[in-house]
Amino acid sequence: MSSPPASDAPEARPSGSDLCTACGLCCTGLLFDVAPLEEQELPLADKLRLPLACNQYHDAFRLPCPCHRDRKCTVYETRFAVCSSYECGLLRRCKAGEVPLGEALTRVERVLRLVDALRQRVPAEEPPRPLWDEAREHLRRRDAEDDSPAWRSERESLVAALAELRVACREGLDP
Ligand code: SF4
Ligand code: SF4
Repeated sequence: MSSPPASDAPEARPSGSDLCTACGLCCTGLLFDVAPLEEQELPLADKLRLPLACNQYHDAFRLPCPCHRDRKCTVYETRFAVCSSYECGLLRRCKAGEVPLGEALTRVERVLRLVDALRQRVPAEEPPRPLWDEAREHLRRRDAEDDSPAWRSERESLVAALAELRVACREGLDP
């Protein structure tokens, strides 16, 4: 879960950093709702005003992460342990040489394109929530106020686009 600024990308894993720099999707709430925190990371999370989701069993913060801007981590040097250690299946296979970087980038670009297209159709909430939650809320709200054939058609198309994105995430990124 990391998308470093291009200039700070670690050199030891060129293919991994190239991929994550172009992606950043694991910070957006598309793949996970929350990210775990270690207890000693709570003061930093608090300072960064991350939306915490702590309970008696674990500490975590909600995604999308507010430190993720323009597809980059704005706190890359001090990011959390989970952010440094997380690798999706696509990144792992890319680093292992099983998926060429070009193909991995193509998969990421496809997911990003689908997300961008859906973002034009699903109103963003404040504070932001994962796209899935915002889309569900949008459908619920529109269903309650509009039963026209035009909305039913739009609804069908929107649900299909969400399903396409879900498959692209699962099969393309393998979180
Ligand atoms: S701190 Fe936020 S933006 Fe940075 S890597 Fe972690 S989840 Fe992503
Ligand atoms: S989803 Fe995978 S490729 Fe994208 S930033 Fe996260 S670990 Fe890197």
